[in-house]
Amino acid sequence: MAHADVAAVASATATAAASQPLAGRVAIVTGASRGIGRAIASHLSSLGASLVLGYASSTADAAALAASLPRAVAVRADVSDEAGVRSLFAAAETSFSNSGAGGGGPHIVVVNAGVLDDTYPTVATTKTEAFDRVVAVNLRGAFLCLREAANRVRRGGGGRIVAVTSSVVGSLPAGYAAYTATKAAVEALVRTMAKELKGTRITANCVAPGATATDMFFAGKSEEMVRRNVVSNPMERLGEPGDIAPVVGFLCTDAAEWVNGQVIRANGGYV
Ligand code: NAP
Repeated sequence: MAHADVAAVASATATAAASQPLAGRVAIVTGASRGIGRAIASHLSSLGASLVLGYASSTADAAALAASLPRAVAVRADVSDEAGVRSLFAAAETSFSNSGAGGGGPHIVVVNAGVLDDTYPTVATTKTEAFDRVVAVNLRGAFLCLREAANRVRRGGGGRIVAVTSSVVGSLPAGYAAYTATKAAVEALVRTMAKELKGTRITANCVAPGATATDMFFAGKSEEMVRRNVVSNPMERLGEPGDIAPVVGFLCTDAAEWVNGQVIRANGGYV
């Protein structure tokens, strides 16, 4: 090959690597059927990753997303159920063996699935069943995914764990106490794990969105409650799922190895 041709091939290879930094990597995203998780999954796919799309009940949405991405499978799995969580990891190990990603555990796990009590009760009026449900999905579910990730994400470089928590841990709004408590607990789990994973070159971080225009955000809110979120933000708007996905995407790349054990708030500056 002529010198100029070799240089052209090298340049094209470098360009492809820069635009597809997650090529050959397998990512699990929980809560990928809708909202922020859907945007994260699409973004990781655009960076070259193969995707396991976890969801609870939105089968049509998850299947449509899987069909629209080059390498993706949708897996129905309640994150509060141990067997369900294990099935997400089994799918990561078996679904993409012909895609260059090889067999073995996932490289990336994004713990995103969550629920919110959309009656916005005070602590005094929070029903025990409502508290238990938020804890079951947001805390027990995150714990089960994080524990599985700590054992099964690949070692030796490129291993990434990201939990989606919330900026309410900083702003402590009335009406969100149980939800906020679960997110604070997940931040403690993840920051501890970052230290426990010493020697694996796996990073563990949280991304904490502020008010983001999804089904969860609008559920149970009056126009006045929505407006208050807009006017109190320095950017004078709600966040969009597309504001959050690139932050998670960056944390999943090799370039982010030095960011470890951190909580990155992505909220337009409201807290
Ligand atoms: P969303 O639009 O309501 O979507 C929630 C996703 O989680 C859906 O894909 C849902 O699956 C899945 N899910 C719910 N319960 C599940 C379970 N038990 N097992 C497995 N999957 C389950 O919510 P979102 O606003 O995108 O929220 C995503 C994450 O961001 C959550 O952790 C949330 O706490 C956090 N967050 C959101 C905001 C906001 O303002 N929107 C702000 C800060 C943090 P199905 O579609 O199958 O139900």
